[in-house]
Amino acid sequence: MGQIISGKELSKEIRAQVKERVTALKEQYQKVPHLVVILVGEDPASLSYVTAKERACLKAGMKSTLMRKEETITEEELLALITQLNNDQDVHGVLVQLPLPKHIDENKVINAIQKEKDVDGFHPLNVAAVHLGEKGILPATPKGIMTMLNSTGIELKGKSALVIGRSNIVGKPVAMLLLKEHATVTIAHSRTTNLKELALNADVLVAAVGRAHMVTADMIKDGAVVIDVGVNRLDDKLVGDVDFDGAKEKASFITPVPGGVGPMTIASLLENTIECFLMLESK
Ligand code: NDP
Repeated sequence: MGQIISGKELSKEIRAQVKERVTALKEQYQKVPHLVVILVGEDPASLSYVTAKERACLKAGMKSTLMRKEETITEEELLALITQLNNDQDVHGVLVQLPLPKHIDENKVINAIQKEKDVDGFHPLNVAAVHLGEKGILPATPKGIMTMLNSTGIELKGKSALVIGRSNIVGKPVAMLLLKEHATVTIAHSRTTNLKELALNADVLVAAVGRAHMVTADMIKDGAVVIDVGVNRLDDKLVGDVDFDGAKEKASFITPVPGGVGPMTIASLLENTIECFLMLESK
């Protein structure tokens, strides 16, 4: 039976380290990292995400500001707010919770955030850094996934890795980060015709699709490391993209849902906020 990679436990360790670093930064700079989160509209899922982020920041000793804006805010007004936050020396991270209402161009908004304050790692220059294998702010979920993989002690070099899903926020960056670690990476998506065959060849399998239990035990190679990014509601329960009970019998390591990638995403966001702080304050 596979060992469980507990994102809950690992994220606690990271958050404790972040807290220590914040204390040290406060002594050195007489200020702490300040994250501003902008939430447009009333979407309950988005509200619960931003509340969790705010709580985590405060617990780590950072400053956190949640700016809630009406659904009717114009693109121009939102862009003006971002410019103001870019110019505010007391602000080190700016995160605009997605999705935004249809009348606002998300790309324009992301591009407007100063790259050194882009804690989400979505700015094109940070995206480019991931693809070029250069230093930049990594998107939080892929960063958390790599931390989980590193925690297993398994060397990725030469391993065959399958990433299911090719979104800009998870699938593609995870694939690039695995490639950077010298894994041989395959990316599958909705038009892939031989998913089971690819999966059965994967030493590392990352599922980032958003379809409950689509990866079943018969698709897992014996001893594979399985990272389940998916968050789906099934019969009023949160489940992943992987059929956990079956898959854990085949995997060497596996992440649960909930308590897996989710908490790591928040821990990575805190780490990114410190990175942004250091980039800005040491200029
Ligand atoms: P997207 O909807 O943006 O992307 C889903 C991807 O899955 C697409 O590339 C799509 O292919 C692919 N796909 C859909 N159906 C299939 C299929 N049958 N076989 C293979 N691939 C398929 O989702 P995200 O990347 O944003 O998120 C993925 C999941 O991860 C969601 O459940 C989301 O809630 C969760 N998530 C969790 C986070 C966390 O912190 N725990 C953070 C971010 C996301 P195509 O491109 O061809 O359409």
